[in-house]
Formats: sequence, structure tokens, C-alpha cells
Amino acid sequence: MVGAGIAGIFAAYELNKINPSSNILIIEKGKEIKKRVCPIKEQSIEKCNNCRICHIKCGWGGVGKCEGKYNYTNNFGGDLYKYIGHKKALELMNYVDKINCNFGDRLANTYSTYNKELEVKAEEYGLKLLHTKVRHLGTLKTEEILLNMYNYLKDKVEIIFDTEVINIISKGKENDSFTVETQNRTYYSNKLILATGISSSNWTKEQCTSLDIKVREQGAAIGLRLEVPASIFKKVIDSTYEAKFSYRTEKTKDFIITYCMNPWGRVITKHTNGMIMVDGQNYLESNEPTNNINFTLFVSDYFKSEDNIIYSKEFADSVIKVVNSTGGGVLVQRFGDMIKGKVTSYNEINNNTTKPTLDATPFDLNLVIPKRLLNDIIEMIYVLDKMVKGIADENTLVYAAETKYYNPLVQVNENLETKVKDLYMAGDCSGITHSLSQAAASGIYVGKNIGING
Ligand SMILES: Cc1cc2nc3c(=O)[nH]c(=O)nc-3n(C[C@H](O)[C@H](O)[C@H](O)COP(=O)(O)OP(=O)(O)OC[C@H]3O[C@@H](n4cnc5c(N)ncnc54)[C@H](O)[C@@H]3O)c2cc1C
Repeated sequence: MVGAGIAGIFAAYELNKINPSSNILIIEKGKEIKKRVCPIKEQSIEKCNNCRICHIKCGWGGVGKCEGKYNYTNNFGGDLYKYIGHKKALELMNYVDKINCNFGDRLANTYSTYNKELEVKAEEYGLKLLHTKVRHLGTLKTEEILLNMYNYLKDKVEIIFDTEVINIISKGKENDSFTVETQNRTYYSNKLILATGISSSNWTKEQCTSLDIKVREQGAAIGLRLEVPASIFKKVIDSTYEAKFSYRTEKTKDFIITYCMNPWGRVITKHTNGMIMVDGQNYLESNEPTNNINFTLFVSDYFKSEDNIIYSKEFADSVIKVVNSTGGGVLVQRFGDMIKGKVTSYNEINNNTTKPTLDATPFDLNLVIPKRLLNDIIEMIYVLDKMVKGIADENTLVYAAETKYYNPLVQVNENLETKVKDLYMAGDCSGITHSLSQAAASGIYVGKNIGING
């Protein structure tokens, strides 16, 4: 198995459970969980250096070492259900939840974001309300579960860290094993699971292409984060804690989705790939609730043709780089100023009725965000305002910017097996999943199938 992210860990767990005598090796390019410390956190550097092996993305748990919000749904977070069926996908996600509960002590309760009244109202305005069952573990519990899973697996499965798989050679006529080359050693295996996630997106694509497996680009999303008083969301928060809306804009037909809603939370920065992005933090992470709620509006699907979509990641990165080079990090603007095309001043930020929870640089986002994306977001803000009065208020704070990449979609069958027999794809590297629960469920699915069928 290549990769010890959530998909790899859950695949190994299930394969070992079904067939304890199976000989499993996990090769992971990052470090074990306790040694995963970003140099920015250690304060040895100030800005993201774009380390070749990033501690935030690589190592035991992969990018799953995060706030750990598990959404148990087929409504978003990937298309696993298209391969294994709705029922099976949900069944496996519930099983993932059970495993998390077994490995974690006193986890937060699950909650549901289902709200029929809101759903009907949303439809009237062309919005879709996407509901889910959620268990939000938080950073500490996530780490505890990952560590407990490591301690459980380490005597059953061989796990090697700090080792990057460089090349994979398919089984040949004389050789009935895959050849897996790392910088130090070559390994052989009769079955191979790629669970390489998002950090090795290009590498996975190259490997698939060299093995003659079809891949299709899926692009990237660009987002701006809004911050408004939590009180205007009272009705939503009281009934479902948070809500996820999607929308297709009237004019461009671009797709927009609300993401990572944090009632009483904070807007924070995230250092990744040498860039500084805006992010949101749940109020439980800091034990200091604020009066605000924040969430991102992500625009995707802006490059419609197959020819253009290959450039969407670079395009998204270029937007972040322009934002960073303008303000030294994250920019902020009052919504009222954004509409007028006027720079928000420090004084206006200080006197704004919605108090910012992040110290960002006030600016005019019209100067740095492409017009079409900005228009898409403005349209969505006005539509959302019909649902939740006050979102389009001039004091609403808009922070730039954030991106989300989707791995190329790898062609696999209903067993998540590629056309190369015995080569499986689990988790986000397949391009099928984009979330913790679905990445884990896909790992379970592959592990189970290999365990049962040998
Ligand atoms: C900042 C952030 C926060 C997120 N928060 C949430 C959330 O709260 N809820 C949610 O549902 N989703 C969230 N997601 C998405 C979610 O984390 C991922 O969908 C999921 O963790 C993917 O798991 P994975 O195992 O497929 O891939 P990854 O976690 O990327 O793991 C892949 C592993 O493979 C290793 N690897 C890659 N290539 C090689 C190689 N060649 N040789 C050896 N090892 C290799 C990597 O080092 C990595 O450890 C978040 C994503 C990010 C970036």
C-alpha cells in the first residue's frame, strides 16, 4: 500500500481484520504522527517554504490530521456511491464512524443538518440544501484516534515512514508481482493499493498514464470566506448547527457551494504550497467562542472545456499569489465597499459593526479577484440573503482567498480496481472521494474486497 492517509489506514485495518494472515506493507513518505510538526509551528520559519514533504499533508493520517469533521453523506464529499451504490456507501461510512468511536474516547455526538423547512425555502431561490449526518471530532480527538489506530496496527502491519515510492512497474510476463521502487529499496507485491491522496496528485497521474490507465482532470475551486454575526444565522444554528447550500449562477452557470461553516468560530490563515490562504476554525478548537459565523463560498466549474480544465489549478494558485503579493497574506473587504469598488480602510475595518476575527489586510478585492468569480460570489451572496437576512449587509466581511483542488479522476471499475489487474485506488488519489468519511469508506471497501477475494 502506498500512503498512510485515512484511506490507507482504513484499508489496512479492514484487510487485516478480514484476513489476519495477509502480509501488508504500508509505505509512507511522511513521518509518524508525533513527528509531524510544521516548521512554522516550531517558529523556525515565518512563511510556508513549500517543503518537499509537507508535515501538514504527509505522514500518518495524511491530510486527515485536521479538525476531523466527518460528514456521513452521499450528497457531497465525493462520488463513491456512483461506483459502489448509495446504500453500500452509507453503510461503509457508518462503519467508519463505528471504528472512530472504538478508537476514540468520549467523542462529540453526531448531529444532522436535515431541515425540511429550510430545504423547501432554499429551492424557491434556486439553492440546494445539502444535508448530512456529522461527527466533528476536533483536532485533539482526531490525533488521539489516529495514534490509537497506529498502535493497534503497528504489530499487525509493516509500516515504513520517510520513504517515498518513486516508481511502479506493472506485473510482467516473467514477474507476477508489482515492482515498487523507493529511494532506498525495491519492494515486490502481488496486490497494490494506491492511497496517495492530494499531495502526490501529479505523481499519481504520471504513474497511471505510464500504466495506460485513463485519467481525467477535474479542476480546482477558488473561494472567498464570509464573516457575519452569528445572530443572523440563529434559526439555522438552532435547528441544524450549520447548513450547506449549492447554487448554479444565472449567467455563467458556474457552481458555488458553501463550505466549512463555523458558528462562533474564527477566521484563520492556512499556510500551504508556499502560499497563505484563509481558513475557518471551529469555536471548540480555541475554547473562545466569538460572536461571528464564517464560511467559504467556493466557485468551481469556471473552466468548462476539457482543454482548459488542465490549467485550473495553476489559475487558482495564481489568484492566491496575486492576493498574497498584494497584502502579504489574506485580504479583507467590507461587502458594501466591494460593491462600490472602493478600498476598505483600516479605520473602516476598526469601526465595522461585524468585528473581524482575523487581522487581515484591508483592500479592494475587485483589483485582485477575477471579475467573473467576484460576480458569481456577489450573486450568491444576494441569493443567500433571501434565506438568511443580513448576509448581504454592507458590514459583512469578505476574506480572500482559498483554493481546493480535485485530483484527476482515475478510471476504475466497481471494485475500485484499475484496468491493471490487482492495482486498486483508495481515497482522494482516485479523484472519486474528497472527504474524510468517503476516503475512509473507499479504503474499507478495497481492504474488504482484497481480504475476502484473496
Ligand atoms: C486542510 C484540510 C482540512 C480538511 N478538513 C476536512 C474535514 O474536516 N472534513 C472532511 O471530510 N474532509 C476534510 N478535508 C479533506 C480530507 O482530509 C481528505 O479528503 C482525506 O483526508 C483524504 O485522505 P487520503 O488518505 O485519500 O489522502 P491523504 O490524506 O492525502 O493521504 C495520502 C498519504 O499518502 C502519502 N503519499 C503520497 N504519495 C506518496 C508516495 N509516492 N510514496 C509514499 N507515500 C506517499 C502522503 O504522504 C499522505 O500521507 C480536509 C483537507 C484539507 C487539505
